[in-house]
Amino acid sequence: MRIDLHAHSTASDGTDTPAQLVVAAAAAGLDVVALTDHDTTAGWAEAVDALPAGLRLIRGAEFSCIAPDGQGGRISVHLLGYLFDPVCEAITAEQARLRAERRVRLHTMAQRMATDGFPVDPDALLDGLPPHASAGRPHLARALVSAGVVASVDEAFRRYLITGSPYYTGRTDIDVSAAIRMIRAAGGVSVLAHALARCRGPVVTAGVIAELAADGLAGVEVDHPDHTADDRAALRDLAASLGLLITGSSDYHGTNKTLYLGQETTEPEMLERIEELATCGHVAAVASQDPADG
Ligand code: AMP
Ligand code: FE
Ligand code: FE
Ligand code: ZN
Repeated sequence: MRIDLHAHSTASDGTDTPAQLVVAAAAAGLDVVALTDHDTTAGWAEAVDALPAGLRLIRGAEFSCIAPDGQGGRISVHLLGYLFDPVCEAITAEQARLRAERRVRLHTMAQRMATDGFPVDPDALLDGLPPHASAGRPHLARALVSAGVVASVDEAFRRYLITGSPYYTGRTDIDVSAAIRMIRAAGGVSVLAHALARCRGPVVTAGVIAELAADGLAGVEVDHPDHTADDRAALRDLAASLGLLITGSSDYHGTNKTLYLGQETTEPEMLERIEELATCGHVAAVASQDPADG
């Protein structure tokens, strides 16, 4: 069983459509893939419709959150929610709010660059995105690549888009404990994504993860491309001491990142635990109609 529980499509900042993503997942030899677009479930229906025989789809999303850093500050964290009820109003309202803010924020970043003479058109950038897509920095990065400003998305981040750069603009993300409760109330299961990815910025302490476990966090993503061997070992030990389940996933973004589907994987027992914890009957009923279950 090869299980990858973190992947992005064109519903957020990936480059494969949801249909292309599930086909690519099957071609990569995966048995299970989770679609976890940032702050949206808009890709789920297309992924279900295109699901190749033998591949299971776990419906998910990656929630953009803020958390205490354990040292008196607040930092950005990502929370993976699985198998929650997609029509839960608290979730749809929060995701819609944040998607609207993401569009304004990306326009602001692009406008600042245009004002400084960069060849980017903020209106064209936003108009070029699918209407329900979560707008993110990778979209601006690709525009900079297309305009010949940089050679790659990664270079665009390093030179212009990283947190702390003059063009970086923040967002009002939901508090992570509130998001954990919101996902739980919708029958879903939450897993803290790439918690120790220091290459992305400051990270939470073990004490914060313990508090989140008390709030209902079910697991931590241990095997992630942005985690060092030491990070993985530390998170594995912490998860064991807190009774958290552990996952491993690629965080595939198509050609926006140089990693591949199935680069990191999750143990089948851990997926079983996620499915046991999920209590949303609506999602379970839809899942039981997947071709792979027949
Ligand atoms: P945003 O959601 O707009 O804050 O942008 C963050 C997204 O950019 C995350 O989904 C990351 O996966 C992606 N990202 C961050 N750094 C890089 C990088 N160096 N190369 C490609 N994608 C990145
Ligand atoms: Fe992303
Ligand atoms: Fe993330
Ligand atoms: Zn992700």
